[in-house]
Amino acid sequence: MKYPEHMIALINALRCLPGVGNKTAERYAFQMLEWEPHDLAVLAQTVGTLHEKTKFCSECGCLMDDEECEYCVSDKRDRSTICVVSNIREVFAIEQMGEYRGVYHVLGGLLSPMDGITPEVLRVESLLDRFQNTQVKEVVIALDSTLEGDATALYLNKELAELPVKVTRLAFGIPMGSSLDYIDGGTLAYALSGRTTMGG
Ligand SMILES: [Zn+2]
Repeated sequence: MKYPEHMIALINALRCLPGVGNKTAERYAFQMLEWEPHDLAVLAQTVGTLHEKTKFCSECGCLMDDEECEYCVSDKRDRSTICVVSNIREVFAIEQMGEYRGVYHVLGGLLSPMDGITPEVLRVESLLDRFQNTQVKEVVIALDSTLEGDATALYLNKELAELPVKVTRLAFGIPMGSSLDYIDGGTLAYALSGRTTMGG
């Protein structure tokens, strides 16, 4: 017996989520069938307007609630320190520790030429542009301790070498080969406070 077409469409859509296989997608779809129509409408509305309701800051690449970036315009943030991360989720991980007071720059990935992720694809140019209008004293490179993370950190360090800025990298406590997404807050805080200057 085959599922009705609309159920198949829902299952296929859910399967696109990370970690959701066929069986889980089926379970979710049948679960949703039992929801109240109102709750389904709220979910559909939220998903459908996701792009419209959430915007990216053109300067740092973080997500914005309204027209202003809470990091770039806040007078509580130190704009002379820029923390470079590969994706937006890492901003939330660092914010959760509540210790970092600088601003951010989201690269949008890590260098991986084999997968077509070259410096031009990442937001490297816009990082360098920020030095035009702001006096940046330190760039904290908070990238994964993986081959791609290391390659990206080295590339950025080279790009920034000509500028009068201190380039540091999270080093302590981050096990080799690990992604920042999976590191607990304590380890991340330790890594941030123990950051080391990158050699030029
Ligand atoms: Zn911003």
